Amino acid sequence: MNIALILAGGTGVRAKGDKPKQFIDINGTPMLIRTINCFKQVPQIDSICVVVPKEYITLTENMMRAYNMSVDHLIAGGKDRRESSYIGVKYLADIFTEEDIVLIHDGARPNVNQRIIIDNINVARRNGAAVTAIRGQDTLLIGDCENNVAGYVNRENAYMVQTPQSFRLGLIKHAHEKIQEEIIDGKINPGEITDDSRIAVLAENKVTIVAGDKFNIKVTTQEDFGIICNIME
Ligand code: C5P
Repeated sequence: MNIALILAGGTGVRAKGDKPKQFIDINGTPMLIRTINCFKQVPQIDSICVVVPKEYITLTENMMRAYNMSVDHLIAGGKDRRESSYIGVKYLADIFTEEDIVLIHDGARPNVNQRIIIDNINVARRNGAAVTAIRGQDTLLIGDCENNVAGYVNRENAYMVQTPQSFRLGLIKHAHEKIQEEIIDGKINPGEITDDSRIAVLAENKVTIVAGDKFNIKVTTQEDFGIICNIME
């Protein structure tokens, strides 16, 4: 089985006291509906689980009904992305087997294509863990806290990370458990963990890079809304 775990548990609202970004329209259709649709269109996806903030469960159910959309599981998330992912992984591990594949995807990336999803499934089945990423084309530098250049990153080995990130369910569940313990023991700062590939690598798993694409953007700022409205119909 291949299961999509869509993380839309963030509560950050845009200016003007609006709803969280995943519920905002992109050319007339809410971002989360568009993200779910990307996975609905891939026949290899057997099940979809969506994570939203607890207080948005009813709104999400109503929104899906309005768009004639359904998912297999709708659950409440945690206080940051890592917690929402861990909650989703634990939930799925109670239903599916350790060998099933989970594709963990940001609800805020509504333009992921079929090729990326299928490559993720194939690589995760073969190697156990996959991360979508694209090569940087610009020169990459590191700045200091005073906005001065502190160094440069070798562009040959540098990537920008996207989602989906896909794993054998057993692998990512055990990785999350290990990292949770290390956070409790004060060995890891949870603020540094912004994706699941980091969790898998910290738990000493090998993660294979799958080519993403520039159109698979994460919508965060007002500027990103402008870009995504231009690239999606
Ligand atoms: O904040 P950021 O854009 O990096 O979040 C990436 C994804 O993680 C978003 O789709 C967001 O909704 C999700 N998230 C979550 N639970 C949180 C915080 C973020 O599922 N508590």
